Amino acid sequence: MSFDKSFENRIKAILGEEFDAFMTSLSTEKITALRVNLLKANTSERIEKIKTALSEDGTDFSSEINWEQNGIIYAGGAPGKHPLHEAGAYYIQEPSAMSPVYYLDPKPGEKILDLCAAPGGKSTQIASKMNNEGILVSNEIDKKRAQILSLNIERCGIRNALVTNMEPSGLSEVFEGYFDKILVDAPCSGEGMFRKNDEAIDNWSPENVRLCSRRQTDILKQAVKMLAPGGRLVYSTCTFAPEEDEYQAAMLLSWGMKPVKAELFEGMVSGDITNLQRILDTGENLLETRAVIDTLSEETQEEIKICSGRLWPHRIKGEGHFFAIFEKEGDISLNADLYGINGKVRTVNVDDIKPFSEFADEFLSDICIVPDENGKRKKASCRLVGELKGVPFMFGDQLYLAPEGMPGIGGITVMRPGLHLGTMKNGRFEPSHSLALALSKENVKHCHEAGSVSEAMSFIGGMSSRVPGLEKGWYLITIDGFSLGWAKYAGGILKNHYPKGLRIYT
Ligand code: SAM
Repeated sequence: MSFDKSFENRIKAILGEEFDAFMTSLSTEKITALRVNLLKANTSERIEKIKTALSEDGTDFSSEINWEQNGIIYAGGAPGKHPLHEAGAYYIQEPSAMSPVYYLDPKPGEKILDLCAAPGGKSTQIASKMNNEGILVSNEIDKKRAQILSLNIERCGIRNALVTNMEPSGLSEVFEGYFDKILVDAPCSGEGMFRKNDEAIDNWSPENVRLCSRRQTDILKQAVKMLAPGGRLVYSTCTFAPEEDEYQAAMLLSWGMKPVKAELFEGMVSGDITNLQRILDTGENLLETRAVIDTLSEETQEEIKICSGRLWPHRIKGEGHFFAIFEKEGDISLNADLYGINGKVRTVNVDDIKPFSEFADEFLSDICIVPDENGKRKKASCRLVGELKGVPFMFGDQLYLAPEGMPGIGGITVMRPGLHLGTMKNGRFEPSHSLALALSKENVKHCHEAGSVSEAMSFIGGMSSRVPGLEKGWYLITIDGFSLGWAKYAGGILKNHYPKGLRIYT
């Protein structure tokens, strides 16, 4: 592995005596980890099932991760190829990347924006802490990456997410002052990924660091606009470049954001604006940044230290990362009822979704459709109560479920407007793959457990199976109790309904 000399000089300037230890760490094995998805593995018994199944497949679990109680470091095996991965039982994510969400501290019921969200590691982590209550807007500017994000949201069975494909400036026109919490996991120069990803090394240049720095300032401006008074913003990167990290923290403070004290875990170190000064002293000509740091008061310099953290791969088990935590002045409790900022989704009444009600009566448990309070009126809307809660609405012939209070979707490019329940056509309802992944075996009347990993893989590969003597209808196919998708039983055959585009042929 060889690095740009200028990169090495910059890191030397920041790390001094620790430079050699850092360089040595880059030639050691990358750390691999996964995060159990609490939306599905919500009991210790289920978590044990995942661990046992993966251990039998050759995965060795070692230490836990201090800042993410559901994260586990592992070596060996191929958890990404196990059917439990397709069931959304866990998400593969390196340990340092799990730290920003710890500091965001998501809670059920909040309105949270993940502004730069693809492929979805942090969005799925946020969602698992929201327990399907509140609203998560997961945004990604790049359409292809937004599609991958959307699939990961589906795989993890998330019910309360709106996946959007917007530029931050477009989103901020709609959502001004709306969110309780915002994560900006910014596009960055990726220095923290050098051990993991050779492409990050090839793409590195001082010019790209500058470009990323400017882009981040633009994104953060929009994020601040969308934050409610009293709301929290976490900014993070996977780079060491202080023109991005500490410099952006300084910008946020200069716009009036308040620092929030970061309690650091063992091995983390505070950010420090003098890192930028040290880089400038190596002769890098970054005039705009110099002008800013020359005017920073001692108080601001101290605030940057207090609210930020750096994760270095020679100090912790994980890749490189930076985070900083801020709050907007104001009282967040005033934001509690501020839903419907962009109007409401167009609701439906009980009759409009009769085929779905019939499906729910026949095949789902603990889920029912009730008319709203004004239900005596002919065109009254309805909602779902029980295990699946929210407001059903149609998008063409597709039926979706919006979390309670979800804003209207006018003027936004949406990839996934809530939980996709299924398709309604010619008076019939066909359940979606998203619905299968959002349900557990307790939520359905019929389920069929794949007896082995190979049986589960053959289901994921689209194979139907012959099973004698079942009752006719829709079956949730499960592995170790985790749902994989739908099959429909008739004439002795469980007909496979795994989506063609997601099939994995083994
Ligand atoms: N948070 C993600 C996760 O945990 O899986 C990783 C996000 S990645 C570090 C940054 C993302 O920002 C990329 O997906 C990239 O496409 C997106 N991005 C690039 N330019 C952007 C811009 N101008 N505004 C917003 N997002 C941008």
